[in-house]
Amino acid sequence: MRTGLIKIMANSIPKDFIDRLIDDSDIVAVLSNYLSLTKKGSNYTCCCPFHEEKTPSFSVSPQKSIYHCFGCGKGGNVLSFIMDYEGLNFVEAVEKLAEINNVTVPRQANSAQNDFTKIYEINEQVANFYFDALKDNENKHIVEYLKDRGISGTTAKNFKIGFANFNQHKLLADLKKKFSDKEILESGNFMKNEKGFYPFQRNRVTFPIQNSSGKFIGFGGRVIDDSQPKYLNSKDSKFFNKTRELYGFNNAKKDKKTDSFIVTEGYMDVVMLSEHGVNNAVASLGTAFSQNHINSMFKMRKKIIYCFDSDEAGLKAAWRALQISLKNVFDDRTVRFLFLPENYDPDSFIKEHGQEEFAKKLERSMVLESFTYQYLKRGMKLDSPEDVRKIIFEFKKLIPMIRSETLKETLLQKISTELNINKDILLKEDAPDVKPIFKTQKKIEKKNYENELLLLIFILENFANSFQTEANEFYNFVQGSKNQEIIEIKDMILGIKEQDVTKKQTPLFTKAMMIDLKLTKEEAYAEFIRASDVIRLEYDESFADYLINLAKKKELTTERKENLQKLLNLRDNNSIQEEELIQDLNKYS
Ligand SMILES: [Zn+2]
Repeated sequence: MRTGLIKIMANSIPKDFIDRLIDDSDIVAVLSNYLSLTKKGSNYTCCCPFHEEKTPSFSVSPQKSIYHCFGCGKGGNVLSFIMDYEGLNFVEAVEKLAEINNVTVPRQANSAQNDFTKIYEINEQVANFYFDALKDNENKHIVEYLKDRGISGTTAKNFKIGFANFNQHKLLADLKKKFSDKEILESGNFMKNEKGFYPFQRNRVTFPIQNSSGKFIGFGGRVIDDSQPKYLNSKDSKFFNKTRELYGFNNAKKDKKTDSFIVTEGYMDVVMLSEHGVNNAVASLGTAFSQNHINSMFKMRKKIIYCFDSDEAGLKAAWRALQISLKNVFDDRTVRFLFLPENYDPDSFIKEHGQEEFAKKLERSMVLESFTYQYLKRGMKLDSPEDVRKIIFEFKKLIPMIRSETLKETLLQKISTELNINKDILLKEDAPDVKPIFKTQKKIEKKNYENELLLLIFILENFANSFQTEANEFYNFVQGSKNQEIIEIKDMILGIKEQDVTKKQTPLFTKAMMIDLKLTKEEAYAEFIRASDVIRLEYDESFADYLINLAKKKELTTERKENLQKLLNLRDNNSIQEEELIQDLNKYS
């Protein structure tokens, strides 16, 4: 999902600018902003910032403008480093790198593919139409319903809450005067079947969703009776991505009275908190809390308070938020957890107890360390050594996610004190010397195959121009392969073909670029054939047929003859001709 989004957003910045920006960057200088690098031979090294280690396995190559960690496999170029280290998305990382290099990012003003101006206009018009519908006499019951729930006219107006009736012919006719059918359908507010257009939101109270620049991008709809689903959000699209957007964010970020965001579970929470003077709340839109969400908030404020239900689902959601937070809490950034009394959500709590009580609850919300402990010890008996070991086992899973050394220390302190366990134990690998044999073997197998792949990538990137036919053979195989392991590397391999920097930059690719081999063109060709055959023998079902064809044309190398014999001997449904071919091949060699 993330890559898809990156592609869309990256389109607005000219590709050649990004390529040049990466080329122009001095990787050692840029990374030195974050790490203390030591020169070692022609490379620079230090302890890896992405995993825990005592001896440096993180290596930076100024010649190749890449970095690679031999410990955890992380690698890439200046841009991927900034993305990983700062937790930024692609576009944000481009901006950051441009800032470091002191250049301005040019924007393509009207790349048609990403111009959503019309869509925003449609959505705004629809929002106004739904809002105006509240003034209709026939919708009086909706106004009553909102009043019953405690929403005043002012708040309804601030959030442009409205009502989508069954009949929206008037709205559709208005839209058709200004917009094409295609635009109307693309906006997601109307769908089409044999009978024509019909509205997406029907008989629902509507909550327009704005992106962080205030553009209308979609709607949340809530039923007013018992129909299902209770909540219905606009579908994800190029301009509306639920893993990025937060309901109420555009309003909340304008609230100057606070240094925090409150994350709630639903739009009614956001609206009701605002009704009672709390204007810094946001809600995720029916999806789990994501890295993107936390990025947008931490960019503006240092504190996030998660306010979830105290039921099992709420706790799980909070735990997920905690795990994402571990990567993002450092320096003076902080997260808190607020669980309201059972059966309350922010909406009902503030309605019943008012703003002051809610503020007190916020004040007393749990710090990250406390929630970690509280969550882990749920249902456990602390006088049972068995349960204590379970807690420690679960706690250890969190450690690799923590980025801040300070946070690591305070968390360890908390858990070791509460459990009365030595802090060092919490950091040590359990049973470090006992490794199951089968696991080791599997690793070796994988590594052998990986070596061929690394070599192949290295040669494709550096020599493919000298033997394009063979390279294209391989690209075609990758493109058409249905094998899961090949599918996983497909984008990257095709990225080499298309010289597409954004597709190429994967840990496997950068690892391959660290290969220090001086090959002649001839050697590269021979190695390429050998390595690609190894891969295709394993993964390409039509490889035998390909080789048979070459054999008929008498274009088989000795090595490939052997490969073909191997393949044909393995098959048990060879035709007579193929059996003859096997005999022939025997004769050749
Ligand atoms: Zn590492």
